Amino acid sequence: MTIAEKEIKKFENHNCAENAVFYQAMEEVIYSIAPLLESDEKYSRHAILERLVVPDRIIKFKVTWLDDENKVQVNTGFRVQFNNALGPYKGGLRFHPSVNEGVLKFLGFEQILKNSLTGLSIGGAKGGSDFDPKGKSDFEIMKFCTAFMTELHKYIGPRIDVPAGDIGVGEREIGYLFGEYKKLTSSYEGALTGKPFFFGGSLMRPQATGYGAVYFTESMLEIEAKEPLSGKICTVSGAGNVALHAIEKLQQIGAIVVSCSDSHGTIYDPRGVDLELLKDIKEKRRASLEEYCSAHNEATYTSVLEYPEGGHAVWEIPCYAAFPCATQNELTELDAQTLITNGCVSVTEGANMPTTREATALLLSHKICFAPAKAANAGGVAVSEFEMSQNASMSKWSFEKVDAKLKETMQMICKRVALTAKDYGVEGNYVDGANIAGFKKVADAMIAEGI
Ligand code: GLU
Repeated sequence: MTIAEKEIKKFENHNCAENAVFYQAMEEVIYSIAPLLESDEKYSRHAILERLVVPDRIIKFKVTWLDDENKVQVNTGFRVQFNNALGPYKGGLRFHPSVNEGVLKFLGFEQILKNSLTGLSIGGAKGGSDFDPKGKSDFEIMKFCTAFMTELHKYIGPRIDVPAGDIGVGEREIGYLFGEYKKLTSSYEGALTGKPFFFGGSLMRPQATGYGAVYFTESMLEIEAKEPLSGKICTVSGAGNVALHAIEKLQQIGAIVVSCSDSHGTIYDPRGVDLELLKDIKEKRRASLEEYCSAHNEATYTSVLEYPEGGHAVWEIPCYAAFPCATQNELTELDAQTLITNGCVSVTEGANMPTTREATALLLSHKICFAPAKAANAGGVAVSEFEMSQNASMSKWSFEKVDAKLKETMQMICKRVALTAKDYGVEGNYVDGANIAGFKKVADAMIAEGI
């Protein structure tokens, strides 16, 4: 039995239906860090893995709110405070019907290592609710956020735990959450990031995850001696904050982005997507992507209903670089095979763990440059930390300063991941490099801080 198999066996009791994605993330990390565990027995002696896979605490609470018909609605709220060895708990809030404890444990666990990779002083956490913002009025969103914060405010603070956005939580929601936090605590402080700029947010926070993923990819392609993205066909999935800003940066550097998608279907526009129209449909009107084709009749729309067996229309489009920016496990082994057959050179995870384990293994075995989420999408949380710094010093940084620091951070993460992979005998494997580098920093802090 290998050291990884031995370690995984210890956590078999975590493997149940609700924990499926958490177990998947944990298994990947354990396999990756096996060379580190083998090279230094201190991690086993200090039972670091046993301590790392259990959150410090899980806060679970009821959220009751009144809808527009004055009917009482009940949802469940969570905050998983996973690990604060490197700094205050930090990570987003997700509002989506799929949210449960297992999903948030997966996201919180990934966040520990992601935040460690940024080199900044932030621990890992995640939270959210099974509340579905789709179809809700602005007023209902406000009432839900207010009710959610009534409970959450007891557990957060600028030096304790600093939530931010994720799927279903953007500037609007953060604004309402912040307003309620301020009211309940009587203090105007940076207990949340992703705030609108005019009351405490950082410039570039909305762009940070998408831009950061592109900066990371540029760096990775350079290190791996591949051609740059300029002039190349790129495919992007998703149409949320990460996807739209990845498209924006890709277009700025001269790449041709031909796709995007939402939970209902995929747009393929061979001439390059019209970002302004997409922003209007998705950000302003929160409408369906299908509308895109009425303005651009050379584009096609494929409904997900055409893929009852799984698979995804985005990944059938031949491309140089693919950017899955929608949600977990959206890119399957079948999709990975299609990408490889069509000559794809690089895959960057803009969303959290959008590639299944089997798909990742296949891409790596075909030497596709693969940028894992915890490294490639760390730009969002990095700029969140810049927001915390600005709030703490009551200052405002320029767009140029934040952008330069974001780029520098992404390049630093990329180099560190590549070098770590090389040091541990897995050159070119950014998954193992990211897991080892991220884990090592947290684990060393945990050892130094005692039990
Ligand atoms: N939800 C984002 C992530 O997955 C951002 C978290 C934050 O800014 O705290 O990294």
